[in-house]
Amino acid sequence: MNTLSPLEKEKIYDLISESATDGLTGTIQLWDTLTIPYISDPGLSDDLKKRFKQAAKEIYDKTEVRLVSCNQDAIKKKSVRAFMYLGKFSDFCKEPGAACSKGIGMKLKTGLDKLSKPDEEAEKAFAASGAPMGFKESNNVMVIAHEFLHRLGLAHQHQSPYANKFIKVDQSDKDNCAPNGIYWLPYYDPASVMHYGLQECNKMELDCESSPKGGNRYNLKCKAIDEQISKYVCLYGTQSSGNKCFQRPEELLGGPKLGPAIRYSDNKFGQRECLSMLDQAWLLSRYAIVEKDEYGLEKMIADGLCEAN
Ligand SMILES: [Zn+2]
Repeated sequence: MNTLSPLEKEKIYDLISESATDGLTGTIQLWDTLTIPYISDPGLSDDLKKRFKQAAKEIYDKTEVRLVSCNQDAIKKKSVRAFMYLGKFSDFCKEPGAACSKGIGMKLKTGLDKLSKPDEEAEKAFAASGAPMGFKESNNVMVIAHEFLHRLGLAHQHQSPYANKFIKVDQSDKDNCAPNGIYWLPYYDPASVMHYGLQECNKMELDCESSPKGGNRYNLKCKAIDEQISKYVCLYGTQSSGNKCFQRPEELLGGPKLGPAIRYSDNKFGQRECLSMLDQAWLLSRYAIVEKDEYGLEKMIADGLCEAN
């Protein structure tokens, strides 16, 4: 909430309070602190680690959740009950994929008290103890933010039970595409950072009608989505920054080659370009009662064991 205007904050809280009585409850373990430590595999590049920080900043600027880079001495402290481990894609994930979170939500740390002094085995112990994610050097800030949000307890936006009013999804990939019974806010946002591109899940189909406009373009009418958009206007940034929320394309690409088979996958709904208002409202509503710095990371930042960002 650090960079939000009073009006933006008010809108977010409206969204949360309207949702308060209409959420599903799930069994995902949420973090017990708003200031969450992470440690990165030393084999990852400084450039990628810089993007980790930028993704953490994007989340912290718009919510209360702060991810902080720490060293092994900090992570080993008793007060730190859990941490995120940011590792290599090849160690944790399977192709195809850009990046992954192995599991969602908090995972209590284990086994680190047996470590005596840092050695080559230590790194493996940290990797096994933390809540793991895997990244590729090519990952951009929003791909990283997407995985961070998984780790904070969120599944994909197209897996929300509230999405199926607007979109048809092939659910054969149970983990990534089928509905997930976690806690959800009762809205659908195609621009969520947690929404896959429309070409994923064997091509998603939005509840829209198209009519030829001439040339290679079609007009797109999406009644249900438009109602949603008009109710909750975009709050953040401008189109040029790509930081829009609740948006949809004006037109649908088609053309003689494609015939009537409209390629929804060619069209951009702004997904994975920002933390949408819905993403922010979800985090704020789930983490509203959590302690700010349960693990005492502020002090560790002052002592140089963690880095402020
Ligand atoms: Zn994902």
